[in-house]
Amino acid sequence: MAVFKLDNVEDLYEIKEVLGSGHFGQVREVCERTTGILWAGKFLKLRRGAGSRLGLERTSVEKEVAILQGLQHQNIMALKDVFESKTEVVLIVELIRGGELFDFIAEKESLTETDAIEFLKQILEGVNYMHSKHIGHFDLKPENIMLSDKQVPNPNIKIIDFGMAHCFLQGEEYKSMGGTPQYIAPEIINYEPLSTAADMWSIGVITYILLSGLSPFQGETNEETLKNILEMKYEFEPHYFSQTSFMAKDFIQKLLVKEQSERMTAEECLIHPWIKPLTRTQMAKRNRSSINMKNFRMFNAKRKWKMSYNMVSACNRLCKLKLVCKTNALEKQDLRDCESDQEDTDTKTTSLLRRRLSNSS
Ligand code: ATP
Repeated sequence: MAVFKLDNVEDLYEIKEVLGSGHFGQVREVCERTTGILWAGKFLKLRRGAGSRLGLERTSVEKEVAILQGLQHQNIMALKDVFESKTEVVLIVELIRGGELFDFIAEKESLTETDAIEFLKQILEGVNYMHSKHIGHFDLKPENIMLSDKQVPNPNIKIIDFGMAHCFLQGEEYKSMGGTPQYIAPEIINYEPLSTAADMWSIGVITYILLSGLSPFQGETNEETLKNILEMKYEFEPHYFSQTSFMAKDFIQKLLVKEQSERMTAEECLIHPWIKPLTRTQMAKRNRSSINMKNFRMFNAKRKWKMSYNMVSACNRLCKLKLVCKTNALEKQDLRDCESDQEDTDTKTTSLLRRRLSNSS
């Protein structure tokens, strides 16, 4: 079992404002007392006992920490330190001040494909690096792609949230059921052995959305979305893709491929002519093609609304859970930690949906 620093984090860092929240805790700005340097602290609540429904298994925190410790890249959030107490683990990580990439783009008047590619290239570089270390992220989505600082002329991408990441050992078979329906690869839904190719599928979905403001497989319900993915039901609707280059569509088509081994790798993406043009004509096409900004802004507003809605419903569910716990006088210890333990409908594990799907087909 990995042992983290046992010091009281508050002796070394002043805990400041909340920057965001995840399923298992909050992320807060923290100030290192000795240097005055600002960092982010990811406070993860630990599960108290086998019977508890709240908090994270310690092994899963250890996994996230081990993965972050092995990753040092300008496009990946850096880990500085880890502290633990009986109830939580605190990851001290690089403070990322620029917010989410999608929010930054939504504020723009207009954006050419060339501008979008500058960001995509950085995502690919970060992902290529982690894949070269046999690490899959398995939760790539707009919420996990941030900018280090949006005030600078060329903002730097930072990939965050390695809570679902996995480091493949040689010859290892790894399956996982987690993920966000809109972005997950067919092999995750089918509970097949995974590879880093699952991340490339998510990059295909993110690129599709970035260019059109449409989500390729989005259905009315999560079940419908998963069904659309399995049936590979997507198209480039002319109304939304009228300003998109042929090369961009080719790039997406080579990522949204059902067979994992036939999907482009991050390394291959980086030399695809849309990302790295070979001719002047290809270069010019990217400059002339643009993002469907009107639709992109609508997509982003809906996404943000859904995130807030999920947050409120998670709080409501927790309040109910607290009430049940109280009435039954159960898990008294856990009650103190309920507030930061969330679950939302969108990121809910796909296992249930998969089961429902297979029952209905
Ligand atoms: P999830 O429940 O989605 O798995 P999580 O508990 O693993 O989330 P993160 O996704 O890592 O938590 O962080 C939650 C939110 O906190 C992010 O969406 C982001 O807004 C903010 N955040 C995370 N890391 C940083 C950072 N290093 N700097 C600034 N804000 C951050």
